[in-house]
Amino acid sequence: MIKIHRTHNPAVLEKTNKTFQTEIAGMNEKEAYDFYKKHSRVYLYNTNETKTHFKIMNKERCSFCTKFIQDFDDEMTVEHIQLKRDAPQLIFEWNNLLCSCRTCNTKRSTKAHSSEKYLDPTNITDIEKYFCYELDGKVYPNQELSRQEQQQAAYMIKLYQLNRKGLVCKRREFMKQIMSDDDFYNSLKTMDEASQNIIFLSVFAYYKRQRMPS
Ligand SMILES: [Zn+2]
Repeated sequence: MIKIHRTHNPAVLEKTNKTFQTEIAGMNEKEAYDFYKKHSRVYLYNTNETKTHFKIMNKERCSFCTKFIQDFDDEMTVEHIQLKRDAPQLIFEWNNLLCSCRTCNTKRSTKAHSSEKYLDPTNITDIEKYFCYELDGKVYPNQELSRQEQQQAAYMIKLYQLNRKGLVCKRREFMKQIMSDDDFYNSLKTMDEASQNIIFLSVFAYYKRQRMPS
């Protein structure tokens, strides 16, 4: 994962949220969620507006695997940090939304949110320190961190299945290329972080740090 700078609250989303909050006032969670499900064609969070915000703040990448999402407008999905079912009052709350590739979103599915363990990349400035990327293509919790921090990293890896087979293969290929081909590595360094040539931004940032220790 990599630090993401959240944009200001998208205006239409804010408006939708206000109307929705008025409608669900006084309802319990189940009632509010049922109300949302009944009206999900009217109350929208994945609009052109939110897509545009995510496109900019995420550099067209998934918030979890940091993979460049080809055809962002069609392929990206909106991930609710606290699930719609568990926290219907946050369905249109900008700070509760992240953008995700389809696979990461599907892998988490409806697994509940742990406020002690969840690492929100828009909130945690040094989120990159939590993860190490090894040559086998896998991501691991950074062993130099505290036990609690390692547990948080492990939780995120498990929640979004960041060591799933397909992802590990692609990551390994990308790493191999960065490590073995200096021309390739140097050309990536000159590119904008939104470039699709940097397939996994988190991996690239990790190796850049390894090569240029501060
Ligand atoms: Zn992803």
